[in-house]
This record gives sequence, C-alpha cells and structure tokens, in this order.
Amino acid sequence: MLDFTFHNATKIIFGRNTEKKVGEEISKLGKKVLFHYGGGSIKKTGIYDRVVESLKKAGVEIFELGGVKPNPRLSLVKEGIELCRKNGIDAILAVGGGSVIDSAKAIGIGVPYEGDVWDFYSKGKKVEEMLPLGVVLTIPAAGSESSGGSVITNEDGWYKRSTNSVNMRAKFAIMNPELTFTLPNYQTAVGAVDIMSHVMERYFTNVKNVDFTDRLCEATLRTMIRNTPIALKEPENYDARAEIMWAGTIAHNDLLSTGRIGDWATHGMEHELSAIYDIAHGGGLAIMWAPWMTYVYKHDIERFAQFAYRVWDVEPDFRNPEKAALEGIKGLKEFFASLGIPVTLTDAGIPDDRFDEMAKKATEDGPLGQFVKLYKDDVKKIYELAK
Ligand code: NAP
Ligand code: FE
Repeated sequence: MLDFTFHNATKIIFGRNTEKKVGEEISKLGKKVLFHYGGGSIKKTGIYDRVVESLKKAGVEIFELGGVKPNPRLSLVKEGIELCRKNGIDAILAVGGGSVIDSAKAIGIGVPYEGDVWDFYSKGKKVEEMLPLGVVLTIPAAGSESSGGSVITNEDGWYKRSTNSVNMRAKFAIMNPELTFTLPNYQTAVGAVDIMSHVMERYFTNVKNVDFTDRLCEATLRTMIRNTPIALKEPENYDARAEIMWAGTIAHNDLLSTGRIGDWATHGMEHELSAIYDIAHGGGLAIMWAPWMTYVYKHDIERFAQFAYRVWDVEPDFRNPEKAALEGIKGLKEFFASLGIPVTLTDAGIPDDRFDEMAKKATEDGPLGQFVKLYKDDVKKIYELAK
C-alpha cells in the first residue's frame, strides 16, 4: 500500500426530505447565492419550488442561472462568472447532476481567478480557491458531489477536459434518493455505468498489496450489479435508489483510491466520444470498457481473474486464469447490455471515420492510463475494438 492523505470534508446529508435543509445549510456559506441548475427537470419534478421555498425561508438572496447542458459548456461557465462578479455573489448552490455541479465548480474557481478559467482545464494551472459550493443531488452518477473534479467542454474545438483539486470539494451535499425516482431508465443505467467506472478506474492498478481497497471496490461493484436492475424495474424502490446513490458517492470520493494509483484511460477515451458526439458520459463508458480490458488484460491476468471471481462470480479455475479473466470481461459487457444501453459504437450510431483524430486529441497531453500506458496507436486500436 502506498502512503496517502485522505481528506474529504464534504458534509453528506442523506435521506428523505433532506432538500428542505438546503436554505439553512447554504446560508452558512453566504447570503448572496447563485442557484445553478440544468435544462428544466427540476422544475418538472417540483424540486425547484421546494429549494426556492427553503432558500427564501433562510433569507438568502437568490441569483438564478439555469440551462446547464449535459456535458457542460465553457460559454455558460463564463456567463456565470460574470454574473457572480457583477452581483458580489458569495456562494453557489448546484441543484442537479454532474453537469450542473461541474459547471458550478468551474464558475466557483473562475470568479477569484484573474486569467481565463480554461487555464485550469488546459494548462494544468492549480486551483487555489473556489467560492463555497453546496449541492442538492438529483442523479447518482458522476460523484461530483464530493469529488474534487470538474469536467467542462470547450466549444472552441470541442475539447472536453477536467481539473482536480482538494479545493474543489463541495461543502455539503444533500442527497435524497426520492429525488431520483423521476430519472428516465436511460439516465439510471448510464449513471450506474459511470459509478461502476469510477470504481474500475481505481481497481486496475499496478500497486500490490491493496487488499482492503480491492475488497471495498468489489463490494461497491456488487452493490451496483444487484441494485441497478431493481431500480430500472421499480423506479420508486427507495432502498435500491438509496444504495445506488450512496455507492455513487463512495465510488468517487477518493476513499477507494487510498494507497493506490488508478488508471483513468477509459475516461480519457470516453471524453472524446462525449465531446464530439455529445453522448452521455456513462453511455460512452459502457462502450469503451470491454475493448480497453480486452486490449490490456494480459498485462496482469491475475488481477483480471480476481475481478472475474469476486465481482462476476466466475467459477475459480486457478489452472486457467486467462479463461476466467476473459469470462469476467464478458460478464461486464453482458451486464451493461442488460441495462438496455448500447455497448458498441455501431449500436450507438457513432461512425468510425474520426478514430485517428480522436486518438490524437486524447493523447495530446501525453499517454493515457497508469495501469498500462496507451499511446495514440493503442487508443486508435481500442476504438477499433469498440466498433
Ligand atoms: P447530468 O449530465 O448532470 O444529467 C443528465 C440528464 O439527467 C440531464 O438531462 C438532466 O436533466 C437529467 N436529470 C437529472 N436529474 C434528474 C431527475 N431527478 N429526474 C429526471 N431527470 C433528471 O448527468 P451526470 O451523469 O450526473 O453528469 C455527467 C457529467 O459529469 C459529464 O459531463 C461527465 O463527464 C461529468 N463527470 C464528472 C465527474 C467529476 O468528478 N466531476 C466524474 C465523472 C463524470 P436537466 O438538465 O433537465 O436537469
Ligand atoms: Fe465519470
């Protein structure tokens, strides 16, 4: 196990009706609040009204900025930064999913920074401060409610890039599983894939003797495998929704990274898909995992065999771990397909004519991945396997 510092200060407020506490919580962070949200689902579901009521009760002054698109855009971030500066806003409230939260984080780091906020995403500029952020989560997927990450798409060239800092964690996250009852099955499914992806990116590591975090990862994956089909069949099953929601936070709050180094190549390859074709992030991940695994499994057959035995209940066959490894990869792909989402580029309607450009863009800042380093030609071959 490697040495580590684990510090996750996001206060999690979990359970039924917890959104009623939002006014009280955000008023501890500021009096002038940017209320940031997406394309309107919160108005349809009634969360918007409940949040406004709670904010008003707490006496905070509300400045609204809706319209965050999935795969959030830099142009709206810049609009948000201007709005905050003009009105002296001192805290941000994100109500929504990863897209809204990531956009809120980008605004929050952009306000105190004199340069172009894109510097944080493109030039590796370190984030020193962010306006205090509170979250009401409406979709379990990205884990952004307690991660230090933010992913933004720059429409100029369609670059989807991320930045990460301990200074970018939300101060609080309100998580009521009931708010996720209204999710369309597609969003539930691709959200589940993203959650599982955050675990698998950490699971495939070259660091040895990480048994405890291996088993935490396996438990998180098994929880998702058990509960996602239930939530798809019974959207109002509170317990299944609650398991998924909490697993989504644990998957990406860095607990599962302790003492180890993850891979993240699959996220890197996926970001090209969602940047260019504007598909859901989890939808792209569902397509990229099996090809990545097929390409790299020989690097550590034992680890892939362990994944197969412990996560996919493949019968242990210690004389033929390679066979087990391949069965595990098959298990994963079949599970994703069982969620009713495309698992190949062709099925997702994505053509094969831009693989070269995508592979080039994905590796522009150096090879992808830590478990196995992938250069442009490797990435291109993996896109070919994903056809
Ligand atoms: P999302 O893009 O925030 O939301 C997806 C869709 O779900 C939106 O159309 C939204 O509609 C709808 N929706 C949300 N809550 C709903 C509800 N309760 N009922 C009905 N519809 C609802 O989804 P996401 O997967 O959470 O976020 C994806 C983004 O996060 C991607 O850009 C991805 O790259 C990024 N990401 C970030 C991190 C990180 O650590 N920061 C990690 C992984 C991924 P409305 O817009 O109408 O609300
Ligand atoms: Fe992700």
